[in-house]
Amino acid sequence: MHEVTLEPVPQRPYEEVFGADRTARLHTAAEQLRTRLGGRTIWNVNSTAAGGGVAELLYGLVPLARALDVDVRWLVIDGDPEFFAVTKRLCTRIYGAAGDSGDLGPAELSHYLQITDSEAARLADWVGPGDVVVVHEAQPAGLVQAARRLGAFVVWRGHTGSDVPNEHTEDGWAFARRFVEAAHATVFLNPQHVPAWAPRSRVIPPSIDPCSPKNTTLDPAVAAGILERVGILHGGGELPTSVPMPIGPDVLVQRPATVVRDGPAPAPDTPMVVQVSRWDRLKDMTGVLDAFLLAGHPDAYLTLAGSEVHGVSDDPEAEEMFDDCRRRWAELPERDRHRVQLACLPMTDLRENAVVVNALQQHATVVVQKSLAEGFGLTATEAMWKGRPVVAGAVGGLKEQIVPGESGLLVDPYDIGSAGAAVRRLLDDSGFARKLGAAARERVHERFLPDRHLLDWAALIEQLAAAVPA
Ligand code: UDP
Repeated sequence: MHEVTLEPVPQRPYEEVFGADRTARLHTAAEQLRTRLGGRTIWNVNSTAAGGGVAELLYGLVPLARALDVDVRWLVIDGDPEFFAVTKRLCTRIYGAAGDSGDLGPAELSHYLQITDSEAARLADWVGPGDVVVVHEAQPAGLVQAARRLGAFVVWRGHTGSDVPNEHTEDGWAFARRFVEAAHATVFLNPQHVPAWAPRSRVIPPSIDPCSPKNTTLDPAVAAGILERVGILHGGGELPTSVPMPIGPDVLVQRPATVVRDGPAPAPDTPMVVQVSRWDRLKDMTGVLDAFLLAGHPDAYLTLAGSEVHGVSDDPEAEEMFDDCRRRWAELPERDRHRVQLACLPMTDLRENAVVVNALQQHATVVVQKSLAEGFGLTATEAMWKGRPVVAGAVGGLKEQIVPGESGLLVDPYDIGSAGAAVRRLLDDSGFARKLGAAARERVHERFLPDRHLLDWAALIEQLAAAVPA
């Protein structure tokens, strides 16, 4: 187990985004929370410091909460490949999918406990009585009891779930329930994912960090220049090596993406359809490829981008999923192969990775997030914040984010024809695409920024402290 140390951020750039009223509400809530905590700490515990939605959330929220003088910190558990194979299976099952079809039986439980017990033994180095411990996801759920024994208030925060629970969901919960049930309270991303047995459950949607390298506004020429520098576009103008940020040092863009492509990179004025995700079977990159080809727009180009395959420590299936996608791409007729590229983005420098994701989302003509199951789907939120028209699978939190026909389009993710038609519609009708994009940005501004998110957590901690004896 190790701590990810994050410094407080300057507040001014956030105040400009939130506006005076929202900023004032946030300060009042922070003051009440500080009084309630009386010097104690809020700990987040998860299983990776890089890649995926949980890490993304914590990089945004922890420094902002610290800037508000609330002592929020972040611990990451370690595990071995067998542990992460089991927890990947577990999360996929909770999503309602079979995944690798392996067991979640006594042998898997025993290995899971071996790792979580040894990580739990280290918790006392950090956590003390009266602290709040937020355990994210199933990977570290085995630490809930240990945190309680240390006298902490323990909240389990779920990031996965199935809209229609099935035998796979039951299988996943049969494994994880004993750990989650031990928490004082549970928090989910959306109402459909809350199991009936979850203790003191509530729904808190996540947020994106509007001032981060991932989400700050980039000039279109700078976005194109970044993509050219990393090898995703060709033939633009100036290539920036360093990009100024509202917070922190300039981001250096120097590492090329690993790109699978036939023929030249697309020119900056080529209409581009983009999906950025982890290489995960539930993100259905190959389904996006099929939908794009069905859209039948000969001038458009598809970019499927994800983190480099060994870049996310708790995600052992990425290489297999990327290889599937590459195989599918290699089988395409030449004319289609020339309109699709697969890009793996280096994770060596997370700010550099983030600015490339940002440039891709900002440059895209249409952003797709055709997940088969989804907790929330921050990649859609990120694209909406950039005013992009999004085509998303009508699953999980994507349904909470997008009002269909107003702030994006939702499709049945198993219906490739509809997904293709939605992409085509947005490529063909730039006026409609612009309208959706503008409403999308507004919706994120209202609902999915960190001030609302921190207020929700402050209210939960307040209620928990009042209701639960330590
Ligand atoms: N992401 C990233 N770099 C990449 C690919 C993805 O930073 O190369 C980020 C993406 O921008 C988003 C997060 O990973 O912030 C994925 O979160 P989401 O909720 O969409 O899905 P999850 O991966 O948690 O299932």
